[in-house]
Amino acid sequence: MTLTEEEVKQVKEQLFNQIENLPDEQRDVAMGQINSMNAEQLEEFLVKNNLIKGGSCIFCSIASGETPSYKIAENKEAIAVLDINPLSHGQILIILKQHKPAEDSPEAMKLAQESAKLLKTKLKADEVKTESSNVQGHGIINVIPLYKDKKLERKKAEDKELYELQQILTKQEEKKPVEQEKKQIKEVKVEDLPKAPRRIP
Ligand SMILES: [Zn+2]
Repeated sequence: MTLTEEEVKQVKEQLFNQIENLPDEQRDVAMGQINSMNAEQLEEFLVKNNLIKGGSCIFCSIASGETPSYKIAENKEAIAVLDINPLSHGQILIILKQHKPAEDSPEAMKLAQESAKLLKTKLKADEVKTESSNVQGHGIINVIPLYKDKKLERKKAEDKELYELQQILTKQEEKKPVEQEKKQIKEVKVEDLPKAPRRIP
């Protein structure tokens, strides 16, 4: 969504009213800034300052819980949810709770790494690729599990599959006592033995 020309005019007028009581100098600076903003910048400014809700931002909506999702984990800055159109089985999407770039959030990066680990241990992914991007200013990190012999192919995941994945990925492991690793002596085959140099009689 981008503001229409008419909306831009209205919003700018509202902002001018709000800064009316600022000291002259500050007001002039603010006015200049407001005037120089194009529709996109203006919208971003409004969303950032919570003056309008990022109504068009699907990630804000998921982060706030307005749009339901299959949540796997969260920390204070980000949530981890299952991608409903994954490139591979179990792809996780890290979504910042605030509408800001992913690079600004070490906590989101941390959650991405934890999610990657989860995909390796619970889904036996051979490797996990993480890619951060900003969709209209909202930071997300794709955590994509890679499996041997499986190509990446985007397709819609069934609700049943997502539900099961959520169960698997959020299940707490019971702590088992650490078992002593048993030393196993492999069967030694005769042909594996080092060959002694042939003796000449
Ligand atoms: Zn957003």
